[in-house]
Amino acid sequence: MFLYRDTIPVQTLVMPVQNRTRIVATIGPASASVPILVRMIRGGMNVARLNFSHGTHQDHKRLIRHIRTAAKKAGTEVSILQDLQGPKMRVGNLPEDGVYLKSRQIITFSTAVDEYKEGSHLPVTHKNLHKDVKKGHHIYLDDGLMELEVQSVRGRIIKAKVLVGGVLLSHKGMNLPDSKISIESFTKKDAVDLAFGLEQGVDWVALSFVTGPAIIKKVRRIMQAKSYSLKQPTPKIFAKIERREAVDNFVGILAEVDGILLARGDLGIEMPYEEVPIIQKEFIEICRQAGKPVIVATHMLQSMTVHARATRAEVSDVANAVIDHADAVMLSAETATGKYPYLTVHTMATVIEEAEQSRFDDITFYQLHGLDDVETAIAQALHVMCENDHIVGIVTAMSYGSVAHMVNTFRPNVPIHMACPKKEIARQALVRAGIHPFVLGDDPGTFVMRAERYLRKNKMIPAKKKIAYLTSSPGGEIQLTIR
Ligand code: PGA
Ligand code: MN
Repeated sequence: MFLYRDTIPVQTLVMPVQNRTRIVATIGPASASVPILVRMIRGGMNVARLNFSHGTHQDHKRLIRHIRTAAKKAGTEVSILQDLQGPKMRVGNLPEDGVYLKSRQIITFSTAVDEYKEGSHLPVTHKNLHKDVKKGHHIYLDDGLMELEVQSVRGRIIKAKVLVGGVLLSHKGMNLPDSKISIESFTKKDAVDLAFGLEQGVDWVALSFVTGPAIIKKVRRIMQAKSYSLKQPTPKIFAKIERREAVDNFVGILAEVDGILLARGDLGIEMPYEEVPIIQKEFIEICRQAGKPVIVATHMLQSMTVHARATRAEVSDVANAVIDHADAVMLSAETATGKYPYLTVHTMATVIEEAEQSRFDDITFYQLHGLDDVETAIAQALHVMCENDHIVGIVTAMSYGSVAHMVNTFRPNVPIHMACPKKEIARQALVRAGIHPFVLGDDPGTFVMRAERYLRKNKMIPAKKKIAYLTSSPGGEIQLTIR
């Protein structure tokens, strides 16, 4: 459906529909079986996220095995993203029915207790909480559903007034937007989980509650050392933006990290949630220009955890993330524990397809600014060729660096076939919008000849149509071949 069809030229799709925007789906009990995973992959899932806030290593090992089996059955590759829990604060063990927090009631937490006794202090996981909160600070519980205000801190006891009440269940999350938290953003549990993930050969690692670039450097060094001893490529790192400090330090974080995950769930508690949609737009734009992948996450099709059809607002949220030029959109509980894991992926894919066919997600010349370098000028030329159906695909190689990445910043409406030296590197590239990675060995012949042979043999480019091959040499020579 196109508005103003007769006045504004609209791109026509020249290939069978292949969505550009990627789908990240969290795998959990609802999606653990191979047949369901096969359907999800065929339905459009590109990245499987494992949430290390839940489950044992044994559970995750089984999930990874199933994901790989399913990818093989579906005849494709899936990227595996290990999401580390980070310093997520939670309440401790509570009675099975939870504890009712009544509005205006005064309640107490204690950092000295592990078990809750009727009418006594509530336990918390953050044992230095009493040092970090001050009178007047707000405490949010269970995804921000309940709100408290600290009245006093005496010893290890924190007294707080319930502003917005509810039923508090065991292990629910806790957010302290006003407080400076003294927990390292890479915990002991994260270190153990990361070592496990590297042994399992995950493709990406996401760090939660990042506050600045230092922790990314530190974790990268750990990952490099371990990957070296395992003789495998080092996975890439996503920084989850879910604290105000991460928003304030975004430029520094982006310089250090490989990709950004907009974790709107926690971010919308840690800061006023009305700021989140604007941050989403700003950060996606910065990431696109920096050539780093960005995922929009949380609550995208939330109601589909229980219903077979999404709300119209959710459908709009997914479409708007595509229009914002996110590389990927993410599903959490919808696919991990929801009733309709496959249907949710399918719904997301159809919404993406419709949004991508519109003119609203197209990059305009004005968004391709920075005419000052040759790479951008070439990207613009390719953009024009795509728009006019002169070419139906772009082929380049990961190793061609800035020129290869530049082509993706204008989000062409044709697939970008990206040659990679190894399948691990190819799987890392699967999180990028529009990139179709393939493994190209170094047989004799020029890049163009070898790539063309491979892609035609595997029917990845249509016969009798023109393709653009973009290569660059270490000396900075750039070559564009159209044939
Ligand atoms: P989580 O992160 O699901 O690990 O909490 C996502 C978010 O906070 O939005
Ligand atoms: Mn989070």
